Amino acid sequence: MAKNILIALDQGTTSSRAIVFDMHGRTLASHAIEFKQHYPQPGWVEHDPDDILNTQVAALRKAVELSGVDVQDIAAIGITNQRETTLLWEKDTGRCVHNAIVWQCRRTAPYVEKLIQAGKSDLIRQKTGLVPDAYFSGTKLAYLLDTLNLHERAARGELCFGTVDTFLCWNLVEGRPHVTDATNAGRTMLFNLHTQSWDDELLRMLNIPRQVLPEVVDSAHVVGMLRPEILGRPIPVAAMAGDQHASLFGQACFEPGMVKNTYGTGCFMLMNTGDTPVESQNGLLTTMAWRLNGKPTFALEGSVFMGGATVQWLRDEMRLISTAAESEQLAASVPDTAGVFLVPAFTGLGAPYWDMYSRGTIVGITRGTNRAHIVRAALEAICYQSYDLYSAMVADRGGEKPVQMNVDGGASANSFMMQFQADIMGVNVVRPVVLETTALGAALLAGIGVGLFASKEEAASMVKPDLTFVPRMEQHHRDLALYGWHRAVDRARGWVEQ
Ligand code: ADP
Repeated sequence: MAKNILIALDQGTTSSRAIVFDMHGRTLASHAIEFKQHYPQPGWVEHDPDDILNTQVAALRKAVELSGVDVQDIAAIGITNQRETTLLWEKDTGRCVHNAIVWQCRRTAPYVEKLIQAGKSDLIRQKTGLVPDAYFSGTKLAYLLDTLNLHERAARGELCFGTVDTFLCWNLVEGRPHVTDATNAGRTMLFNLHTQSWDDELLRMLNIPRQVLPEVVDSAHVVGMLRPEILGRPIPVAAMAGDQHASLFGQACFEPGMVKNTYGTGCFMLMNTGDTPVESQNGLLTTMAWRLNGKPTFALEGSVFMGGATVQWLRDEMRLISTAAESEQLAASVPDTAGVFLVPAFTGLGAPYWDMYSRGTIVGITRGTNRAHIVRAALEAICYQSYDLYSAMVADRGGEKPVQMNVDGGASANSFMMQFQADIMGVNVVRPVVLETTALGAALLAGIGVGLFASKEEAASMVKPDLTFVPRMEQHHRDLALYGWHRAVDRARGWVEQ
């Protein structure tokens, strides 16, 4: 048989997953294993590196077993991963010197404060496309070197830093390559988007020796062969990409202006901006889309803090619904919210508002308001927040509107929400057959990496749309709804007194 099976390793924040795809983009099998989150102090989050590795290997073996495919037919493996999470290990033993510091961990906020106070924000933004924040790996690595007193060892080249892609490659690939791809490098706050290399000025700023950093490679690139003891045969590991970037690829958003939104706990929207890194005027991040054949493609990125989490809140705290899926039917049971707007600014508002002092608000309640109105207002709020990101992106690109938005993630299963999203944006919303677009993207990149697909366009034949939600709302209704939403956002802003 031909080598035509592709596997994605999807190493996420709460679970490690492996998915087996055939050449037509069909999912043959999938297996996920959750692992423990460690919270050593309030606001701190860690993972045990052994957990990351062991669950990933076990998920891979199980998925291959469930798929029934012959290991000989596996053409390539692609890796996609939780971004920014930081690991540091000894070169000669492979032993990690500390638990992985997870992207969510806030322990390096004082490092970021210092950078901001030293007036480095513009420099960081201009070089990396990022707003200085503790999410990104740079300050986490600086913290590890400082607190464990490892600067000298790092300068002697005895230590390896890596994000999760790097860590997995080091441990799973023969010859222990120390590599990362450009999308993951772009989330470290150490990588210069314009030169596509580690930036000496940024490294000096955080006192990080270059010797500790991995080599930056393309997103589709054979980094080596999977160690044969894992599946009984060596298999090319041919792609690496951060999760949101893999998802943009898995949605085949290859042209400038194409946009995808992932509706998970939060929402992550990325818009392809082609070969130009667009500097946002609206507080969005500039990031890599991917790098192929040495050629970088860029994207704008924005996120909604409370996406599906708003639905969890309705279920767990307000108890207005008993399952997330029930929200759809309840929202559709009323013709509109009867003037109610809910702004889920539970932890403040992100782009384009960046107001940490706003808080959740429900406005427009009358004696006739019932739980269906509130639930509907909550679902609509997820769409309004996504609309705000989308319009910021469109504005940053000079007003040019895309023809459609591609969607994925757990909450994109809600057809009421997807229809409202299309209505409020005035563009088609397209939901693909495979909602695991992150994994699909990693598999497609791996297919390109081993030459199974001659081009990304050929790979895109594996991406199939399922449903298209066409806008039905009239323009004056849309304007009125958005006017109401923005008035409600104004009410939510600045609520916490400083
Ligand atoms: P993550 O990857 O962030 O864990 P998922 O992509 O698995 O998220 O999506 C889970 C989120 O989607 C949860 O917050 C859940 O409340 C929400 N969700 C799942 N199904 C629905 C639905 N039918 N309608 C609305 N929200 C949903």
